[in-house]
Amino acid sequence: MNQRILQSFGRNLEGEFYFDQLMRSMYATDASLYRDLPLAVAYPKNEADIIKLIAFAQEHKTSLIPRTAGTSLAGQCVGKGIVVDVSKHFNQILEVNKEEGWVRVQPGIVRDHLNHYLKDYGLFFGPNTATANRAMIGGMVGNSSCGSYSIVYGTTRDHVIEIKTILSDGSTVTFGPLSKEAFRQKSIGNKLENSIYRQIAFELNHPLVQREIEKEFPKTSVKRRNTGYAVDFLVSTNAFKQEGEDFNFCKLLAGSEGTLCFFSEIKLHVDPLPPSKNLLLCVHFSNLEESLKAAVIAMKHHPRQCELMDKIILDCTKENIVQRQNRFL
Ligand SMILES: Cc1cc2nc3c(=O)[nH]c(=O)nc-3n(C[C@H](O)[C@H](O)[C@H](O)COP(=O)(O)OP(=O)(O)OC[C@H]3O[C@@H](n4cnc5c(N)ncnc54)[C@H](O)[C@@H]3O)c2cc1C
Repeated sequence: MNQRILQSFGRNLEGEFYFDQLMRSMYATDASLYRDLPLAVAYPKNEADIIKLIAFAQEHKTSLIPRTAGTSLAGQCVGKGIVVDVSKHFNQILEVNKEEGWVRVQPGIVRDHLNHYLKDYGLFFGPNTATANRAMIGGMVGNSSCGSYSIVYGTTRDHVIEIKTILSDGSTVTFGPLSKEAFRQKSIGNKLENSIYRQIAFELNHPLVQREIEKEFPKTSVKRRNTGYAVDFLVSTNAFKQEGEDFNFCKLLAGSEGTLCFFSEIKLHVDPLPPSKNLLLCVHFSNLEESLKAAVIAMKHHPRQCELMDKIILDCTKENIVQRQNRFL
């Protein structure tokens, strides 16, 4: 693309916009093995900047790649389009409601920073990743992340109540729980939001489609999974069944890897702080199979976390100054 087009667009933003070789190279990869030079890198300052970026991408037939900490492992933040990094200007905690147990945040807040802040309220966001001291809520929702705490707290998807988004036409729409009647009402109208509800109702209404989804999707008891769009969570709602939870598009947005819309605010369910005292049990095994069988026994005792440390990880600790002192186990 002509450099002058990029230059004049960049001047139009309140945030920063880079298309020099250094910045493009820095954003050519994430924590994955993939690499591709993006067209440009943007740090939007506000929602108006994101709307401008969406219009620019539409006009010039390129893509936007939302990014928070970029610790994804499968190349989710890598591509030829414009990387939109919200970690710099969208990192605020906007509201905490202790009584109702929720928090409203911007996508660039680091998961551990959020929990540090929530501690004074006696609250805590449960889903964890090994990267929790840098992974951000926008990315956790994008990947529907979770880790060793998933046994107790489930995945990020289980905690998302509402997401304020910007759609491909630049409209700002908040997705959240809807009763059967509210879902029907949302399907009426000429806005892009209305047509999204209409389309999903059309796609998922047919009993054959519903049966196929129920048959082919992974069991809901398998918590740590993110295998494509989670339409199975939509089919089981009261928009399509007699019984069931209220319909909530956030179930689908969680795990959608930045492909459906741009998140600008996220309302999350939070839990009371976990117990301050922990008991750690380290069991040693001579092979992987033994440890997997033992996990079945361990689960009968309702642990809060259960994690496998294999030889590769343990060997890495030999070279790590901090972790070397923990090798007494
Ligand atoms: C060593 C290591 C260990 C890991 N351990 C775990 C683990 O235990 N559990 C686990 O689940 N994952 C794990 N991961 C993967 C990764 O760290 C997590 O998924 C993490 O939550 C991603 O957060 P992030 O801020 O880096 O997101 P990013 O990588 O920046 O983004 C993740 C996705 O969200 C999308 N996204 C980001 N912001 C927005 C937005 N504003 N709007 C729309 N979409 C958006 C992105 O486009 C992308 O598809 C690990 C990674 C590493 C390197």
